[in-house]
Amino acid sequence: MNNHTPRKVAVVITCMDCRLHHPDAQHYTQLCDLLGVDDCYIETEAGPDGAVMKEHDSERWHGAVKNLVLIREAKKPDVFAFVAHYDCAGHPVSDAQHDQDVQTAARGLSDALFAEPHKVTPIIAYPNPDADATPTWLLKRVDTTAA
Ligand SMILES: [Zn+2]
Repeated sequence: MNNHTPRKVAVVITCMDCRLHHPDAQHYTQLCDLLGVDDCYIETEAGPDGAVMKEHDSERWHGAVKNLVLIREAKKPDVFAFVAHYDCAGHPVSDAQHDQDVQTAARGLSDALFAEPHKVTPIIAYPNPDADATPTWLLKRVDTTAA
C-alpha cells in the first residue's frame, strides 16, 4: 500500500477483559482482518452486551455512545462493530445468550448512532478450542437476525 491510499477504519466496542487484549489473543489484528479494515478505534466496556441489556439508560452507556459519536464525526469510519465474548465476568450469561445479546446490543447501538437497525456488525469472541494455539481467542460474526 502506498502512503496516499486512504486507510479503512472501523470503530469497535468490545469488552475490557484482559484476556482479549493480551498479545496472544491478537484481538486487534483479528478485528481488522474480519472487518476488512486497516485500523480499529476501540472503546472498551465491562460486559458491553450486558451494559446495553441492563443499563441502556445509564450514564456509563451514554458515555460510551458519546465516545463513538465523537470518533464517527472525527474519523468518518467505514465500519462499526460490537464485540461480546463468552465467559464474560461483566455479563455472566450462557454462550447462547451472548449470541442473542450481542445482536440485540448491536441493533441498539446502530439505532443510537444511525437511527437504523443493521449498521453495526455483531461479533462474538470465543476461546480457541485448541488451548495451546495462538490466537488464544477467535472471532465469529453472529448477524443471524440481520434483514
Ligand atoms: Zn467480558
